[in-house]
Amino acid sequence: MDIEKLVRENIRRLTPYSSARDDYKGKPGVFLDANENPYGTLNRYPDPYQQELRSAVARQKGVDKESLFIGNGSDEIIDLTLRIFGNPGTDKVMIFPPTYGMYEVSANINDLGIVRVPLNENFQINVTEAEKHFSDSSIKVMFICSPNNPTGNCMHPENIEYLVSQFRGIVLLDEAYSDFSDKPSFIRKTERYPNLVVMQTFSKAMGLAAARIGMAFADPAIIRYFNKVKPPYNVSGINQKAALSKIAEGISFRDQVKEIIRERERMAGEIRKLPLTRKVFPSDANFLLVKVTDADMIYEKLVNNDIIVRNRSSVVENCLRITIGTPNENDLLLEAV
Ligand code: PMP
Repeated sequence: MDIEKLVRENIRRLTPYSSARDDYKGKPGVFLDANENPYGTLNRYPDPYQQELRSAVARQKGVDKESLFIGNGSDEIIDLTLRIFGNPGTDKVMIFPPTYGMYEVSANINDLGIVRVPLNENFQINVTEAEKHFSDSSIKVMFICSPNNPTGNCMHPENIEYLVSQFRGIVLLDEAYSDFSDKPSFIRKTERYPNLVVMQTFSKAMGLAAARIGMAFADPAIIRYFNKVKPPYNVSGINQKAALSKIAEGISFRDQVKEIIRERERMAGEIRKLPLTRKVFPSDANFLLVKVTDADMIYEKLVNNDIIVRNRSSVVENCLRITIGTPNENDLLLEAV
């Protein structure tokens, strides 16, 4: 598959911005090249390619540094992907609703059409329906979210791989919640499929949502395009440091993940017993999708008790999405309902 042919022509031809740190890569000296203030501790621009952080993440994930891009959260990576591959006004994306809302918003911002292939009753991808659109070469990017937000389940891995192998565009596989699941990541499959971009984030299991660190794993050819179109200093120095410290903490986040999964299963069991519950959907993520008797009313009552969940009834009828909190926070929710 020729990825170059999928890239927007103006992006292929683009001369990227060259920052002071691009122009000079030698050893540190008297820096008078970037119009920085010489005084202070945060006065210097950060490393535009986050070399130290990328080395640490590459080591942690067992991938080559050249196959890794760091974005200002996954949300930036979603937008950059659409900017690279989607011609505004003519091209389209494919999504499998109900799913993460930013795919659609980002497509709208980039003036791209949206082909929606709803998930089936088990919240799985309807592969036959998706395939019917494969002859439409204006569909440039397909978004697959696994585990999916807001439904919580993983897509069948064999369906994901089949779609990646058959679709002639880019597949952006969003694994934001994969640390809460025992299904294997698709990161290594990017070595086999040049059209696959796997996205992960420091915002969920790693507990760094405030630091805005998203990761994309893909063939180096795609990574080079991410670097070409990104704003020069897209990840702040403070945020790079925060992510590096989190990695240096080692596997301690794994204990938190185990605790969150234990709490998720406890909460699923407790919520199932409640008279207002119709269904608790199985979850591979750090939240539960719960079908209730009257989502709007229950949502309001919870807000009145200072407990805020996400009312998802506009996308899945009468459903609330409940993030797993600390055991104490979870108990407060159970008491309130
Ligand atoms: N993908 C999914 C599926 C999400 O639910 C979210 C956050 N709600 C994101 C991506 C955004 O992640 P980030 O904080 O890395 O931008």
